[in-house]
Amino acid sequence: MKDELSNKKITLLGMGKSGRAAARLLSEAGAELFMSDSGKSENFVSAIEELNGMNIPYETAGHTDRVLEADFVVTSPGIPESSDVIKKVLDSDLPLYTELEAASWFAAGKITAITGSNGKTTCTSLLGEMMKGSFDDVRVGGNIGTPFSSLVIDGDNADTNYILEVSSFQLKWIKDFHPSLATVLNVTPDHLDWHTDLASYVGAKDRIVENMTAEDCFVYNLDDEESTRIASLSKSRKLPFSVTQELEEGCWLEGTELKLKFDSFDEKILDIKDLKLRGLHNVANAAACMILTTQGGASIVRSGSALLSFEGVEHRLETVRMLDEVSYVNDSKSTNVDSLAVALNSFDEPLVLIAGGRDKGGDFNSLTELAAKKVKKLILIGEADEKIAKAFWKIKDVHFATSMKAAVETAVMIAESGEVVLLSPGCASFDMFKNYEERGKEFKDEVNSYGAGS
Ligand code: ADP
Repeated sequence: MKDELSNKKITLLGMGKSGRAAARLLSEAGAELFMSDSGKSENFVSAIEELNGMNIPYETAGHTDRVLEADFVVTSPGIPESSDVIKKVLDSDLPLYTELEAASWFAAGKITAITGSNGKTTCTSLLGEMMKGSFDDVRVGGNIGTPFSSLVIDGDNADTNYILEVSSFQLKWIKDFHPSLATVLNVTPDHLDWHTDLASYVGAKDRIVENMTAEDCFVYNLDDEESTRIASLSKSRKLPFSVTQELEEGCWLEGTELKLKFDSFDEKILDIKDLKLRGLHNVANAAACMILTTQGGASIVRSGSALLSFEGVEHRLETVRMLDEVSYVNDSKSTNVDSLAVALNSFDEPLVLIAGGRDKGGDFNSLTELAAKKVKKLILIGEADEKIAKAFWKIKDVHFATSMKAAVETAVMIAESGEVVLLSPGCASFDMFKNYEERGKEFKDEVNSYGAGS
């Protein structure tokens, strides 16, 4: 496809980071581009400057029928499946691809694709660190950090290793995207605001294995029904991981030891007590990454040492500081009920939980018992505050706050020695913040604004 792009007419939907990266890539390949975004032009000042510099025509504040004057359309992950413009493209006969697909046309190196409802960023970052110990050219990005289009634009070779976080949005309209290693970490209902329904969300994840062959390897979570089902669809080699059962092959937890067994490997990798990462979910992430890294040809010793020194990713169970013998932990990336449950399960200490935000339709009632067991004091913020208060009715010490500043003030006042103040909202951030990063940063700034403490 890469060699057929010269003078092809392509419409790019979305002028965000990945849309612009695709524009640079496809325009260098000689395609004739048109970009379209429903956002207002004042949101795209630098993008517009860049497009003008490349002589790429564009429209903002809506998608006109000019979108259809193309040989095919490439869409950005931010544009929902249910949007009018996608419907319009699907109703036409034009092929529709995603930025992930378009970038893959340029990749000569090996692609490792990581998807799932939770844990993608953690695993992508961790695997990147593990592989860098053994290989010179490891490029990490996709749905996090650097778009795939920007990773491929300067050329590569067969020894390049791409470690890509891939979202369901990006998988939805792939055609030839072909990872040699892939995993679906888990699948829980999420992003139902983007996909038309759950079947569409799950179906998009299924597509990751579509082009994989017998030479490739799919890594799956035997503790997760959907991940295991997707493995059954794959024509490639399949290797499982589990934190609940011993396996004949794959990577699993036995007591406190992580074990790896396949081909010539039969090893104890490490004792999970030595991990800097917290929680059983992170042991599952580590297990998935150990299979991927060794299948990718990296050294087990180097990978293991990268795993031991990995401290996690910002905003995911990130320890901020100790203050008066209370630990403060930022898990602002917890944006759904499932990641809130995971966070609660990661602590033995009594919790002062700060939760709430924009409700994504999650069922907080499923956490009533867990919250009662783990959370001593609850501080609620955002639009979902009363919904969570009702679901967590067994917690008697409940506070409401209208800002992060007020929430942290309350936490500092009520937390006692040995407790953990945990920001794990279980909700989207957009009611009060620009995004979860801003929410987490505000939490950290507030926490760090207090005196030296202990
Ligand atoms: P993603 O990129 O898929 O959103 P992250 O690594 O950013 O995943 O983590 C998002 C949230 O999910 C965090 O709150 C984190 O603690 C939690 N999480 C991480 N790994 C897992 C996992 N394997 N299973 C469930 N939850 C997880």
